[in-house]
Amino acid sequence: MGQTVLKCSRTTIEKMKNFYRPYLQVKKPGASAFFAKVPGCAVTAYQSGKVLFQGKSAEEEAGQWQGNQPKTKSTKKTPQKTAWSPPENVGSLSVIGSDEVGTGDYFGPITVAAVFISSEQIEELQKVGLKDSKLLNDRQIYDLAETIKPKVTYKLLTLPNPKYNELRDKEGMTQGKMKAMLHNQALRNVIRRLDETPYDGILIDQFAAPELYYKYLKGQPEIVKERAWFQTKAEGIHLSVAAASIIARQAFVDEMDRLSEEAGCELPKGAGAHVDEAAARLIREKGVGYLRQVAKFHFANTERATQLAERD
Ligand code: MG
Repeated sequence: MGQTVLKCSRTTIEKMKNFYRPYLQVKKPGASAFFAKVPGCAVTAYQSGKVLFQGKSAEEEAGQWQGNQPKTKSTKKTPQKTAWSPPENVGSLSVIGSDEVGTGDYFGPITVAAVFISSEQIEELQKVGLKDSKLLNDRQIYDLAETIKPKVTYKLLTLPNPKYNELRDKEGMTQGKMKAMLHNQALRNVIRRLDETPYDGILIDQFAAPELYYKYLKGQPEIVKERAWFQTKAEGIHLSVAAASIIARQAFVDEMDRLSEEAGCELPKGAGAHVDEAAARLIREKGVGYLRQVAKFHFANTERATQLAERD
């Protein structure tokens, strides 16, 4: 059985707890901050900051947090430099950036976008107000996406819930692997369409350690690796990732609206208690199988909603 230990800051542990909310276990070991069980891995976070990953996918699971580990000596907030880090001047270069949305939301698809922004376009796109999508509301995201899309070369991919659930159940694919495949596919598509247009590099908003990212892609045709850079919070360092995030978020919001209309009720974002309640309502009205059409079925929300639906 695999085992990986990370030392994390309080903030990261809070972030993890939020991330693993669908998988949190009520019974947890003493002195632990939380205990979660995801398929193939048990995650135990201790008050001391130690986080223990155990199970056959321990390495994978821990890998997605490696960029978040605090530095031991310096208190500076800049991410640690690795062989995969972008150059200092990345913000002014011609870059293809990629980002994904919807991975922590129970309802709705995963959307991934890759966007090329040349150094000549940076100033113009800054002027239209392109920035980190987390700072924008749905309306602003929609407007910005509509402004950006005609100006750039981009590829948007949507992984609908039925397909997601099939990959997960029939092929045992992890979400990390799905994300890596979608990023690679979107990047390949943009590179192909750029044809002879030169670019300086590729910037992937890091969700897993680069070594793990490429492990996920093993066996795929045309793996984008040359001049590929990885960094967490990359939407803050190049506009191409900020644009990818906005285009992916617009598609996610659109799809959530469509699914809500189909379901006949508003499907909430996230994976919290309000999500359990909406899912329970759908189970009562349409049966639990309907959740495979609109949600990431393996999240613990399904089980909690089933219990809710039976209780009332
Ligand atoms: Mg991201």
